[in-house]
Amino acid sequence: MEELTLEQQKTMSSRDLLNYYLGKSYDDARHAHENGKLVCWSTSIAPSEFCETMDVCLVYPENHAAAIGAKKGALDMIDAAEKLGYNPDICSYARVNLAYMELLAEEARTGVTPKELADCPAERIPLPDFILVCNNICNTLLKWYENIAAELGVPYIIIDVPYNHTMPVPQYYKDYIRSQFGYAIHQLEEICGKPFDYDRFQKVMEQTQRSVAAWDKAMSMADVKPSPMKGFDIFNYMALIVCARSKKDSEIVFNRFTEEMEAKIAAGEDAFKGNEKHRLTWEGIACWPYLGHTFKALKNLGINMTGSTYPGSWSMHYHPGNLDEMATAYATVYGNTCLENKVKVISDVVKAGKCDGVAYHLNRSCKLMSFLNVEIADLVKKETGTPFVNFDGDQTDPRNFSEAQFDLRMQALSEVMDSRKEEDK
Ligand code: SF4
Repeated sequence: MEELTLEQQKTMSSRDLLNYYLGKSYDDARHAHENGKLVCWSTSIAPSEFCETMDVCLVYPENHAAAIGAKKGALDMIDAAEKLGYNPDICSYARVNLAYMELLAEEARTGVTPKELADCPAERIPLPDFILVCNNICNTLLKWYENIAAELGVPYIIIDVPYNHTMPVPQYYKDYIRSQFGYAIHQLEEICGKPFDYDRFQKVMEQTQRSVAAWDKAMSMADVKPSPMKGFDIFNYMALIVCARSKKDSEIVFNRFTEEMEAKIAAGEDAFKGNEKHRLTWEGIACWPYLGHTFKALKNLGINMTGSTYPGSWSMHYHPGNLDEMATAYATVYGNTCLENKVKVISDVVKAGKCDGVAYHLNRSCKLMSFLNVEIADLVKKETGTPFVNFDGDQTDPRNFSEAQFDLRMQALSEVMDSRKEEDK
């Protein structure tokens, strides 16, 4: 796809720019080999700076699986994965992607496109030339991506980030992670067949910081009461902070989004047209196959999602060139930290978003994220005084979510929030 001119950029809405740049990232990957580039499948919060420096096209299987889920194509992939012997208790992102990988490999072997691949509603992605894994969100990723590398016979780069049982991050953790940055660079030089360009690396880190600053500002628009943004825009725009965090593309989109929100605030408009009754923190991943249902169920109750731990997961703050700080940023991703830190992070999100309640997604796929949520919920309530509910779900396996249960739990939360407001009068 051609680059947009500055004039074109100025006339486009943030939503159109988002769709354009997301489409472009997939298109770039599909045409990578024609343009002399390699394709890397990367975990969603692995340091993108190294591959970006080497001009590698990054593809994010978690993003792609989420898109398949949101477009209602997950069940085909999940069935294919389970027929291959993958257990239903494995993360559904992994099952969707492992099936997709097997179907791509089958097509490459036979020259025939399998039906499930032809019918897949999401953008097509190419097979990877190598894999980049950072286990700063969970350890499922290690085996999922290791399996891909073994099946396809491609190189596998790991950046191993220890779990933070205490905060702040000790120096020996930073040293350990930095040493792996060095080894990843060495592996990249071998895979790409060219030396690592440290001047370009500096510029990529600077761009990453500009993109992250633009993302922070855009997402902070939810804090305004009433909110000019529909909270589910966090889920929509997040795709770009995942796949273009080190590119100018994301900075352009997030700055435009902020401009649009600021214009709404100046005009006295809000997302719910005066009907924002309650504000909610949603803890956990979206239920992608039910994005429309969950949004509408909340909106019908006048509930806007103005808090989420998601935006902060891609807010990698460091001074460009300071690799200790970069190691710390990638090590302290929310999901990789201890109970005390999680409680603090969610409590801060609840307060910043001026939330009246919290909904915890007990995600059957994501054991790590869900594991502590029951305990976290009580502690956050003690800290913030906000009521909460849990609901069962899954980010991509549609079999693990009940619309009726979700609606009932949100109704109950809404009634508690109503009575809290009455008491406060
Ligand atoms: S287990 Fe959770 S953190 Fe890990 S890949 Fe799946 S959804 Fe992501």
